Amino acid sequence: METLKNRIEQLKEKRPGYGEILDFYQKVREEQEKIKTNLKIEPIHLKKEWKELLAKEGFSLIQKEEFPLDIKASVALFHTLCQIGKEANPHMAEQIKKIREAVDNRKIDLKELLEGGETEEGIELVAEEFKFDKKAFLFLIQNSIQPSIEAGMEQLRSEADSEAWLKGYCPICGSPPSLSILKGEVGKRYLLCSFCRYEWRVERVFCPFCNNKEHGSLQYFCGEGEETYRIDLCEKCHLYIKTIDQRIIEESDPHLEDLATLHLDLLAIKKGYKRPTPNPWSN
Ligand SMILES: [Zn+2]
Ligand SMILES: [Zn+2]
Repeated sequence: METLKNRIEQLKEKRPGYGEILDFYQKVREEQEKIKTNLKIEPIHLKKEWKELLAKEGFSLIQKEEFPLDIKASVALFHTLCQIGKEANPHMAEQIKKIREAVDNRKIDLKELLEGGETEEGIELVAEEFKFDKKAFLFLIQNSIQPSIEAGMEQLRSEADSEAWLKGYCPICGSPPSLSILKGEVGKRYLLCSFCRYEWRVERVFCPFCNNKEHGSLQYFCGEGEETYRIDLCEKCHLYIKTIDQRIIEESDPHLEDLATLHLDLLAIKKGYKRPTPNPWSN
């Protein structure tokens, strides 16, 4: 947490415009870290014969909805995040007021919703029904279960082969990547799962969304004086992924770096490209 705090201070100095959102990020991450130490997560059992078959056929080990959750901890975290969100900005405060009203009046069963929180569609339906901002509501739900999801991923980490998988989706849960990371002296490329946060290696020239490997149709650009971050564009599917060069900023939190470079996303969108897994902190 200390490294994270220092990095946030550095980023705030460099890009004062991001101050408010970075403070919010820090508070949420602190609360998530706090509950991590006491989580009660059921063990995930994988059948041996299945495991081999799944890997051979290119299927992920489990589905998003199969992750065991510590519901009690998730409910508590949800309320804490609402508290933090209320002070973050007026839009969030307004949304949280509406959400809490529905929860307090038992119009929404929070426990049930968190349990099914792995499916975005379900959350979006509730948001529509109660006229909540979908993104804000999804953000609160997903961040409340995130510590449980990551604990589940840690249980399965040794079951997947991060170096040999090489596909555009997560070997553990099958989700698309949210970010790409360059590491090590030779700059090996890894993808970061948008759901469970597992990291696995892929080829350097590769679009994870359509499997394109042609040099000619895979381009990238960096922000001015920002070689640490780049946007990888695919001219075939017109999707993009942000890449963070961890050879330059070691030990960084990729989600934090992503959040502090939303201006690069705006440039990519202007050029006509879309991000399949947008940064959940942007609104
Ligand atoms: Zn995953
Ligand atoms: Zn593509």
